[in-house]
Amino acid sequence: MCRTDLHVHDGELPEPKLPLVLGHQIVGRVVEGGSRFAPGERVGVPWLGWTCGECEYCVSGRENLCPRARFTGYTLDGGYAEEAVADERYCFVLPERIDDAHVAPLLCAGLIGYRALRFAGDARRLGLYGFGASAHIVAQIAVAEGRSVFALTRRGDDEAQNLARELGAEWAGATDDPLPDELDAAIIFAPAGELVPAALAALAPGGCVVCAGIHMSDIPSFPYELLWRERSVVSVANLTRRDGEELFRLLERVQVETTIETYPLAAAEDALTRLRSGRVRGAAVLIP
Ligand SMILES: [Zn+2]
Ligand SMILES: [Zn+2]
Repeated sequence: MCRTDLHVHDGELPEPKLPLVLGHQIVGRVVEGGSRFAPGERVGVPWLGWTCGECEYCVSGRENLCPRARFTGYTLDGGYAEEAVADERYCFVLPERIDDAHVAPLLCAGLIGYRALRFAGDARRLGLYGFGASAHIVAQIAVAEGRSVFALTRRGDDEAQNLARELGAEWAGATDDPLPDELDAAIIFAPAGELVPAALAALAPGGCVVCAGIHMSDIPSFPYELLWRERSVVSVANLTRRDGEELFRLLERVQVETTIETYPLAAAEDALTRLRSGRVRGAAVLIP
């Protein structure tokens, strides 16, 4: 499950396929295939489900921005199901040593997090705003790369802060606590627009704020001084197949533990409610 499922479920994203099966981090075994996979092979099906292959974005390595792209669990049926149909060209081969339930969160939380981390460049001091499914994966990659990670959560979310410290964060606290150091980059996973000026105010000159969510509440106005000195704000949209290939290659070298809570398929609605209220530790995974 992904926070985006909530936005689709709540009708916050335009023009979903209706009726629709949610879910875009599918792990399954091939029942019937085309030419790329044999029956029985394990594959991952991500959010990016189809692109046109001929527009200016597709032909320049930016298929994530294809205006005709279709998305699993949004404009294509997804994975809250026992069986699903996917275009094999967009499926990933998954690292064998990670089991189905633990590899599932890597397919969106991991991929979007990885793309956001690439946008953070070589930032040494990295702030993560919101510490859920994506952040807990990014934190481990960032720590393995030798970066200092600062985790910022809702005030009183001790569980998320403890998880961040366990995973190697140098500091964990609330979004309105003073940080012990300036940040070279901040990645915002929480869908709260007011975090954008807050994160800008925490940046060193030249730093970047990366907004990693598909949906965010309005960003309040802020003084130009917060942006001045070459600070920037950028958003990350979707993923490319290259992101997935790079991430799953990286995971052959870097040990990433995903923290999960599992639910039976029939409890999907309850699990969404827990996700909405921020009560899921790590990522929620449905087991059909
Ligand atoms: Zn295209
Ligand atoms: Zn997602």
